[in-house]
Amino acid sequence: MSTFSSLPISNEFVANLKTLDYLEMTPIQEKSIPQVLAGKDIIAQAKTGSGKTAAFAIGILNKLNVKNYLTQALILCPTRELADQVSKEMRRLARPVANTKITTLCGGTPIVPQTASLEHHPHIVVGTPGRILKHLQKGSLNLGKLNTLVLDEADRMLDMGFLDDIKRIIDTTPENRQTLLFSATFPNQIKKISRTIQNQPVEISVESIHQESNIKQVFYEIEKHTRSTVLISLLQHYSPQSSVIFCNRKQQCKELAEELWSLGFHAVALHGDLDQKERDQKLVQFSNKSSSILIATDVAARGLDIKDLEAVINFELSPDPEIHIHRIGRTGRAGNEGMALSLFTPAEASKVNAIEDYQKSPINFASTTSLTPSSDRKIKPPMNTLCINAGRKNKIRAGDILGALTKNTNLAGKQIGKIDIFDIIAYVAVEQAVTKQALKILSDGKIKGRKYRVRKI
Ligand code: ADP
Ligand code: MG
Repeated sequence: MSTFSSLPISNEFVANLKTLDYLEMTPIQEKSIPQVLAGKDIIAQAKTGSGKTAAFAIGILNKLNVKNYLTQALILCPTRELADQVSKEMRRLARPVANTKITTLCGGTPIVPQTASLEHHPHIVVGTPGRILKHLQKGSLNLGKLNTLVLDEADRMLDMGFLDDIKRIIDTTPENRQTLLFSATFPNQIKKISRTIQNQPVEISVESIHQESNIKQVFYEIEKHTRSTVLISLLQHYSPQSSVIFCNRKQQCKELAEELWSLGFHAVALHGDLDQKERDQKLVQFSNKSSSILIATDVAARGLDIKDLEAVINFELSPDPEIHIHRIGRTGRAGNEGMALSLFTPAEASKVNAIEDYQKSPINFASTTSLTPSSDRKIKPPMNTLCINAGRKNKIRAGDILGALTKNTNLAGKQIGKIDIFDIIAYVAVEQAVTKQALKILSDGKIKGRKYRVRKI
């Protein structure tokens, strides 16, 4: 039943899926593709990695008329990163439909070449709302004959402030279009927009309760004014090597990061106000172990794949039990033991009850008096990050940086940590104790025969 051959799609499609190792449908695909093929609007809840792209792509490609040089489908994504992923996946899925033209339109790249590429109307457009709207206003894109609209990761788009742009884009599309909405969460705002842009949508959601066995989950009752003191006690009691602390609002993230910094903790905050470069940098610092604490909102943490996370701490409980489960599912992965610690005030008892109901297992409470914090546990991260003003565009590879640091120097390869290369910037983690030396080596020396600016971040 869950094989692709059970769907009313051509054998070529099924064969192509096989070459991509798509043998069985994922749960979200199993529930949504038949509805999509039947022409229904859907509102589907599914998290990252659940196979959403194929869930909408198969429907779009199945009804595509390649002889019709008009834009027939539009997929709106929150970020360029995600839009690129979707385009790539759609191209692979589109192999059986010869001459399918798929164009990606996102900000951050010049608009003129995009406009030129739109002269041969693409069948399918993938992009971010801001740039799509710009093309509509310039007249370089026309959605008058659109038959399928997809909002991918809709909650994140709303959180990024794209609602107005999205509405204006939708105003240029035909009313009888098919609208497919995907979102990891269903806040009221999503339900509201669904009512205004969809036609009797079929609601689809996929169970996301994970196997909890590897996660030790403990709840601590606090007074409102003791929230940060208790958090610090938790950090100094458990001293996790790496932890993600969840807050509900970005302002709270920023304030908490400042407070922890002032107390000597190395914490980075991930929230919606960061640009891509800042976001990359914070993630690099966390993943290369030069920061042991990542403070994040749910939206900012979406799609993050963090390995070896020792603890998830809920500084504030999510009002939605499902989000709570998503949060704590980031620890205890791949057979590792994980810890999920949550703070709640008496006024939030109903949230705790909702979580208990949702997870269908009793909550473990502990008293804050059972904590034995030790103030010298400042959780000093083992590494520091050096930032080099050169990257992929300068043809710099990880081996070049490693070589510059260790060839004819006193540094050993094992003192050098993760190396991350971006277009015009690179980061290298080095052990705390050798930071100064490493900085001097890179600043005084050359990488691939050229001098670059290097600093510690
Ligand atoms: P999402 O958009 O939900 O985050 P994607 O559509 O990007 O997820 O899919 C995640 C990964 O799973 C991709 O690498 C994709 O190729 C793969 N995938 C999707 N569906 C299947 C399937 N039915 N069988 C095998 N792999 C799949
Ligand atoms: Mg996706």
